[in-house]
Amino acid sequence: MTEFIQELSDDQVELKNWVHGFAVDVIRPVAAEWDQREQTPWPVLEEAAKIGLYGFEILAEMSMNDPTGLSGPVLFEELFWGDAGIGMSILGSGLAAAGIAAAGTPQQVGEWVPQCYGSADDIKLGAFAASEPDAGSDVGGYRTRAIYDEATDEWVLNGTKSWITNGGIADVHVVVAVVDPDLGAKGQASFVVPPGTKGLSMGQKFSKHGIRASHTAEVVLDDVRIPGRCLLGSKEKLDARLARVREGKASDGQGAMQTFEATRPAVAAQAIGIARASYEYALQYAKEREAFGRPIIANQSIAFMLADMATEIDAARLLTHRASWLGKRKAFKNAEGSMAKLKAGRVAVWVTERSMQILGGYGYVTDHPVERWHRDAKIYDIFEGTEQIQQLVISRAISSMRIE
Ligand SMILES: Cc1cc2nc3c(=O)[nH]c(=O)nc-3n(C[C@H](O)[C@H](O)[C@H](O)COP(=O)(O)OP(=O)(O)OC[C@H]3O[C@@H](n4cnc5c(N)ncnc54)[C@H](O)[C@@H]3O)c2cc1C
Repeated sequence: MTEFIQELSDDQVELKNWVHGFAVDVIRPVAAEWDQREQTPWPVLEEAAKIGLYGFEILAEMSMNDPTGLSGPVLFEELFWGDAGIGMSILGSGLAAAGIAAAGTPQQVGEWVPQCYGSADDIKLGAFAASEPDAGSDVGGYRTRAIYDEATDEWVLNGTKSWITNGGIADVHVVVAVVDPDLGAKGQASFVVPPGTKGLSMGQKFSKHGIRASHTAEVVLDDVRIPGRCLLGSKEKLDARLARVREGKASDGQGAMQTFEATRPAVAAQAIGIARASYEYALQYAKEREAFGRPIIANQSIAFMLADMATEIDAARLLTHRASWLGKRKAFKNAEGSMAKLKAGRVAVWVTERSMQILGGYGYVTDHPVERWHRDAKIYDIFEGTEQIQQLVISRAISSMRIE
């Protein structure tokens, strides 16, 4: 398949090969097993931590020493080519780290991001908790409350978060909560709930259609008291921002949306990794499987399907690399990050479904990984902004109008 490879630096090609090797040697051999077990694959996380693939250093290195913005999508595509559930387990703590980086002071980033990962000998997890049972896309509908207790300089959090990757098993939870209910999404702030804080517990653990090696659960916050310094950003800045919003002046935006915007091209790259895995498998199968005395790929209906799959994957990758490149320059014009995520999610679902078609009956059973890749792909139409929310963001950007 044609890669965007000529645009990658030597370091990025090395990164790609390194992650690919890990995916081949460590992830793929155990992917089916962890899908069935529906548990966090701790031994894989340990292996990843040993070689520096699980940890904040690689993310810091990527964001600081990569003027092109392409290192992230290159890494994510290879990791998720290995397996999406395991990939999400390796990356899940990065959602918390991104939430801290988006809203925290440099001191808070230095204090909390390393605690989301721990060390190779003592692995820790982070979780980013924004969505709630009654409000996912509707970020203005969150009900989890954060009330400041001036007497003790503590924040008190109450509410339930839902669908949280690493929820309840994480050491560090980043929680988006409502500070001023009259201001909708603009009245929210992000908080760090440190390890071992009383009142935070895991609710229901979800049994999922795909990415089953990644833990997803509710997080229940019952009179969770955290020190004032756990508000990401500062109280002074929060008060000033809320005052501006109350006066009808523009705000800087709020934690959850900043986090999602920054991570969309990375999420698109994950979907492309799944699509590419599935396409490669189907291509090989189509060359080997014979029907009516010839390889099935000798039929145009199969060969053209594969041609379309290759084209769609490359198109999604080009959009994704463009979005990452624009994101690095803070140069988004028409919600190109959302375009990449929208396209990549659809491509992953379509390509993995076509792969099953090419394998026929063998595509429908667990003897081959294509049914798993199809199950894994669907989440990319749903999380980090559904298909419809991406359309909403893009349509507003291109029209400069309030589309509902
Ligand atoms: C496996 C998994 C992991 C997740 N991990 C996390 C995590 O770590 N942290 C976190 O905070 N969240 C996480 N989520 C939550 C995820 O982001 C939400 O599920 C997603 O945002 C959709 O919200 P919802 O499920 O409430 O659907 P809803 O918002 O109720 O949407 C239902 C349907 O209505 C459509 N819809 C809603 N509003 C509109 C509109 N205005 N216009 C048109 N259509 C609309 C949607 O597109 C969708 O088709 C995770 C979810 C899953 C399934």
